[in-house]
Amino acid sequence: MPPTPRLILIRNGHVVDPGQRIEGPLDVLIERGKIVQLQPRDAEIPESAYRVEAGGQIVCPGFVDLHVHLRFPGLPEKETMESGTAAAAAGGFTTVCAMANTRPVVDSVEVLRQVQEEAERAARVRVCQLAALTCGLQGERMTDLSALADAGAVAFSDDGQPVFNSEIMQEALSRMDGLNRTISAHEEDRAIVDRGVANQRAAQALGLPPWPCQGEARMVERDISLLREAGGRLHIAHVSCARTVDLIRAAKADGLAITAEVTPHHLLLTDRLVEGDASSGLQPGHPNTKVNPPLRTEEDAEALLGGLLDGTIDAIATDHAPHAAADKNKPYAEAAFGFTGSETALPLLLELVSRGRIALPFLIEKLTLGPARVFGLDAGTLHPGAPADVTIFDPDAAWTVAPHELHSLGKNTPLLGRELHGRVSMTMVDGQIVHVEGV
Ligand SMILES: [Zn+2]
Repeated sequence: MPPTPRLILIRNGHVVDPGQRIEGPLDVLIERGKIVQLQPRDAEIPESAYRVEAGGQIVCPGFVDLHVHLRFPGLPEKETMESGTAAAAAGGFTTVCAMANTRPVVDSVEVLRQVQEEAERAARVRVCQLAALTCGLQGERMTDLSALADAGAVAFSDDGQPVFNSEIMQEALSRMDGLNRTISAHEEDRAIVDRGVANQRAAQALGLPPWPCQGEARMVERDISLLREAGGRLHIAHVSCARTVDLIRAAKADGLAITAEVTPHHLLLTDRLVEGDASSGLQPGHPNTKVNPPLRTEEDAEALLGGLLDGTIDAIATDHAPHAAADKNKPYAEAAFGFTGSETALPLLLELVSRGRIALPFLIEKLTLGPARVFGLDAGTLHPGAPADVTIFDPDAAWTVAPHELHSLGKNTPLLGRELHGRVSMTMVDGQIVHVEGV
């Protein structure tokens, strides 16, 4: 990457900044890594400015991802700090929030510092780290929440595991206001889900154990009632079911401090894919369709979109979950759960825009300001003085998802072979170019 010029002008872009309700043909002036202003195209250009030609593409705040798995420390065969954040930058994400289910688990200040040092050394984008809620994700003993918050943990989560123990969950929730943090909850009632691997309909068709919506909804119900008792702040990770959207909507109407995220795959893919899809070359029960929570029905996807549109769901998050081929190339029941998502999120979501289901500025809001607000991050807008985290993309550019196109070490996406439209051409963090398409 070239050294960062002091003054940069992004010219001839179509700027979309939902935070300021701005959309139009504007130039973006950046000085020393901060946004100076959005200015008309005919404004005077400082002689010394380094010019970036946007050529009519969309110029917007860098995306913020509340849910990624960077696999650091301890799982370099799945992803590294370099590869995971290169994938994020290639997908237009300038801030990613990494989950704590690593080896060792991020459950102490010592491990948290290790991640922060590695991010400092190797990350292309901003990395915020979540800390575990319980030691070793075992659900038995709470971590030192205040020490972890003081050391910079952005939120708390046992993601990958539900927190079974209601007393621990309640106690942890009650401390969130004091710590100014949120709990991101992976909602899965293991008593119902057990060894389930696919949504009921697909599971039945393929003779696999089911992971039904009830398993998600039951746990969300419990956590909403704990939130009602204990106060605090609760964020529901990767909402997948219509029933869950209804529960969150009702809790919000009651004034509870609850937020939620949805993944691009739960919005746009369904469990029909698990049953096989000839056009994608997916045989029935292909392990690349296995994800937790599983892909649901068309009705669920429709309800998730409804929840996004009416504000029940605050943010889109990828749950980027890279795996090595050996973790995935197994019979369905044994294969690892998870899709990579950083690099396919934008084009997949743009299908909703091209179908006329959501407006582009709204989509960008749910990828920028929406998530930034959930964790209280200083990101997601091109307001003067804000860090110059900027994404430039061509919403029409066609490309085919193929392993060699992906920066992530994980090639585990059900979208392999699919032609998508929309590609990030440049990503900047603090005014520094961290990704250029094809580089
Ligand atoms: Zn999860």
